Amino acid sequence: GFKCGIVGLPNVGKSTLFNALTQTAAAQAANYPFCTIEPNVGDVAVPDERLEKLAAIARSAQIIPTRLTFVDIAGLVRGASKGEGLGNQFLANIRECDAIAHVVRCFEDSDITHVEGKIDPIADIETIETELMLADLDSLEKRVVAIEKKARGGDKEAKEQLDLVTRALVLLREGKPARLVEVKPEERRAFDMLQLLTAKPVLYVCNVEEASADEGNAYSERVAGRAREEDAVAVVVSAKIESEIAVLPTEEQRDYLDAIGLAEPGLNRVIRAGYALLQLVTYFTVGPKEARAWTITRGTRGPQAAGVIHSDFEKGFIRAETVAYADYVALNGEAGAKEAGKFRLEGKDYVVADGDVLHFRFAN
Ligand code: GDP
Repeated sequence: GFKCGIVGLPNVGKSTLFNALTQTAAAQAANYPFCTIEPNVGDVAVPDERLEKLAAIARSAQIIPTRLTFVDIAGLVRGASKGEGLGNQFLANIRECDAIAHVVRCFEDSDITHVEGKIDPIADIETIETELMLADLDSLEKRVVAIEKKARGGDKEAKEQLDLVTRALVLLREGKPARLVEVKPEERRAFDMLQLLTAKPVLYVCNVEEASADEGNAYSERVAGRAREEDAVAVVVSAKIESEIAVLPTEEQRDYLDAIGLAEPGLNRVIRAGYALLQLVTYFTVGPKEARAWTITRGTRGPQAAGVIHSDFEKGFIRAETVAYADYVALNGEAGAKEAGKFRLEGKDYVVADGDVLHFRFAN
């Protein structure tokens, strides 16, 4: 599955947020099978109201959402790149994640100590990002000599990598993250192999005080501005509110949200933003037994999409019977879609679209 690492300075609300995510997941665990929760790893359901609509049409007995994994990577501090604290361990944990959710303190509270002494989300972001950039610089500088040597010896892959490394080093030395390297599609694989921390997509999670949970505040505005400049995404959430919502029974959550004027839990925004950041899309399998959502990367073709369900589906892929989500709903299910000519047979080259309702045909 896809993993999103939660990072941030101490005392910004990471654990509060992570616990809210996993408590919600724990509450759902009774309904959804295969939900394992480790102390710092939580699998959360991706909220998607389309799934409920499909299940209602098909009268599915069970609804199974798709999931996204969050990892609480606590303790990233100034000096982590120099191995201070548990520095190296954190960096290794981040390396294993597909994206970074960077929690930033955007709330005032004189009772909660700020490690840097004052509330300044941009400075906090820079502190963390500096550590990640230093770690990337260090790792590239260690490798560049060997890559240069190989490239001079005529190794084609090394030449390609050297070019990327050189471009990444220029940016990193200017204090810019490696995700700003302009990577051509044909270079993508080599670039990913460099495993740079600052190449990972970033979602800033602005932890604001309760009163600003909906619209954010002046601090979160500044973070949003920064995100726009550097190809990142920002969402506003109140970790405190989320931790209160998470422990309520489902029926009471709605009333609580209404009372504070929120359309949905802020965590939903975080989960969806993480999902979008990873360029993930969802397809559905729908029947009387269950309506289920599955995650694929944007651009995935039929057989590989089928492979998410089972490797046999990929190996023996023949075709995907396909109905677009909008057609499925508008025509009241598969039979209606067939009558209206909206039931398609798609082959190996078909790029699965977000929302497709699929039925795979395969040979053993
Ligand atoms: P972490 O070190 O980043 O994991 O931070 P924690 O989640 O442990 O939070 C540190 C402290 O800040 C705890 O006492 C939390 O209760 C408090 N805290 C977290 N989020 C909020 C918030 O949105 N508002 C206020 N006032 N306090 C918060």
